[in-house]
Amino acid sequence: MADAKRALITGITGQDGGHLTELLHEKGYEVFGLIRGQRNARREAVIDEFPYVTLIEADLTDQTSLIQAVEASQPDEVYNLAAVSHVGFSFRNPQLTADITGKGVLNLLEAIRIAGFKDRARFYQASTSEMFGGLDYNRPGTGYNEDSLFHPRSPYGVAKLYGHWITRNYRESYDMFAATGILFNHEGPRRGLEFVTRKITDAVARIDAGTADHVVLGDLWPKRDWGYAGDYVRGMWQMLQHDEPDDFVLASGATHSIEDFLALAFAEIGVDDWRPYVKQDPAFMRPAEVDILLGDSAKAERVLGWKRDYDLPGLVRLMVEHDVALQKR
Ligand code: GDP
Repeated sequence: MADAKRALITGITGQDGGHLTELLHEKGYEVFGLIRGQRNARREAVIDEFPYVTLIEADLTDQTSLIQAVEASQPDEVYNLAAVSHVGFSFRNPQLTADITGKGVLNLLEAIRIAGFKDRARFYQASTSEMFGGLDYNRPGTGYNEDSLFHPRSPYGVAKLYGHWITRNYRESYDMFAATGILFNHEGPRRGLEFVTRKITDAVARIDAGTADHVVLGDLWPKRDWGYAGDYVRGMWQMLQHDEPDDFVLASGATHSIEDFLALAFAEIGVDDWRPYVKQDPAFMRPAEVDILLGDSAKAERVLGWKRDYDLPGLVRLMVEHDVALQKR
């Protein structure tokens, strides 16, 4: 396919990287994925699952490797999904988070410019609802939108805010097609076990199989706006097909506590009272917590025609069914 579009994805080994790779492949793209390190443990898994992807060794902290990656892939679209992406981890590794999640975005934008792709490659930056922080004073009742005030509450949120603004700065300074997607929490069977949703559905499946009798969590009262990652990567792609670069919130428009998630997940295996199965440990609590996140994705729905297929009960069912099947195997 001589005229196939070419996409370069950073973070191809992550949850969104997997969903996006599938979507772009279905759409006929030639997909290139950045992979870090000489012996990346995830390399074989990516090759097994996506044999059609061309992997390129590069690192977001290494400018030269990024320039070479852009030259090798000649991309029409670049999706920057790579990051230190776990909030709890970012408190323990704040400098690493700043280097990769923050300055890494600058390195990639510069690579596109230096390699001469600024007018050809459309750029997507994975911004996040963690930039809002969920405090009383900046929290609109209708949910955060593209114009809401930022107040990040973790080294991860602060680094992402740098990435968000440097992307907008390159759009304004160099006239690049550089879009940001401010995505609220998005989950699914590909989610890492370090995130609370997958930690819960994995534990529920083990309890159902009789190989575990409880799960240890941190705070249960925080509320999140959870959607399905498969729906959200479609939105990323739509942002790069739009006629101009812009910023878009993707969210479900509903907010639920960890307790609500526990109730839905345990109900899937016929358990009405989840409390006997949950223990708490301060080790999983954070120095600063985002109390509540709720997003308003009206702009993406109106301008891009973005739609979601999954609500929270549907998402929980998908994840528990997947993890129960995994235990049976
Ligand atoms: P985040 O919203 O990007 O931080 O996504 P997470 O899934 O990591 O965390 C969502 C919420 O669950 C946060 O308020 C956490 O403090 C809370 N939480 C409670 N227990 C746990 C746990 O054991 N692991 C994680 N990752 N989060 C937990």
